[in-house]
Amino acid sequence: MKPFFDNANDESRWQAVETRDHRADGQFVFAVKTTGVCCRPSCSARHALRKNVVFFENVGQAVNAGFRPCKRCQPDKLAPEQQRIDRITQACRILETSNQPIALAELASRVAMSPFHFHRLFKQVTGLTPHGWQKALRAKRLREQLTQSEPVTRAVFDAGYQSGSNYYQQADEVLGMTAKQFRQGGERAEIQFVVGTCRLGEFLVAQSERGICAILLGSDAQRLIQELETLFPHSSLMVGDAYFAARVAQVVNLLEHPGQPISLPLDIQGTAFQQLVWQALRDIPAGQTASYRDIALRIGKPQAIRAVAGACAANKLAVVIPCHRVVRNDGALSGYRWGVERKRQLLEIEAEQQEE
Ligand SMILES: [Zn+2]
Repeated sequence: MKPFFDNANDESRWQAVETRDHRADGQFVFAVKTTGVCCRPSCSARHALRKNVVFFENVGQAVNAGFRPCKRCQPDKLAPEQQRIDRITQACRILETSNQPIALAELASRVAMSPFHFHRLFKQVTGLTPHGWQKALRAKRLREQLTQSEPVTRAVFDAGYQSGSNYYQQADEVLGMTAKQFRQGGERAEIQFVVGTCRLGEFLVAQSERGICAILLGSDAQRLIQELETLFPHSSLMVGDAYFAARVAQVVNLLEHPGQPISLPLDIQGTAFQQLVWQALRDIPAGQTASYRDIALRIGKPQAIRAVAGACAANKLAVVIPCHRVVRNDGALSGYRWGVERKRQLLEIEAEQQEE
């Protein structure tokens, strides 16, 4: 298992280069004095000697210092996945700065995509259709304005709703309570979430101010939202903004390629014992499994097998905390919070990736 990557010093940077650690990509580039080329940390080219390598914060600095970007790993280009996400982010920016709803065809043409592909990609990245996203944006603006204590009717118009009465019909739907109640409501931690579809079925990703706090899997988006409400009964839940949606793409990538590292901040809340178990789960390499007894031994509590099983079942971060890698002592699949079939699927994907 690769050690946690820390961009603090050149030694850990060099270690990331030696292990071709994808998690370090985008955090720095390295340049080779003898060839004049600069690379992403994960570049697959043969490694230079340490003494010929210098590090830069980004490719721009390396180019200024006279190095040219490697043709193989192209540190000066965004990954194709990132380019697509950037288009969606750009579309979200356009929506954010507009006071009027924008039609799908117009929005797609402004980011140079066909309406069909744009619609599909938008849904994939944000979990919402462009129409649904605009609706959520209006709700978000409305919430913001209500908390700034403007008169309610004024806030409704500023938020881009066509008419006040239209708003009042939608208020319960978007806020879950009336505007006045909302303004009087106490301050509660906010949790943003996005729902969408990946090869494992429906997913929900949520983040608090501290980081990703829930990754849930299922076959019904509405049920996942209910599950989130149960897990965080005192938080106000809101549909994620564009920045969050771009992050979610990274989580989806992980759900589809469960061995991949994740570089997003995580908000892992649980008892000290649960945290201990969850850390032990994260130490199980992709493609391998461990029994509940193995985990109990690894955390130095050999008697606590049932409690380990309980901690696995309490996991809120599917795949990131890989509780799917825990099986019965005889190797049989035991239960999985998100369905045994999904557990089997995850283990199969990991086994395939090991063979590649
Ligand atoms: Zn390279």
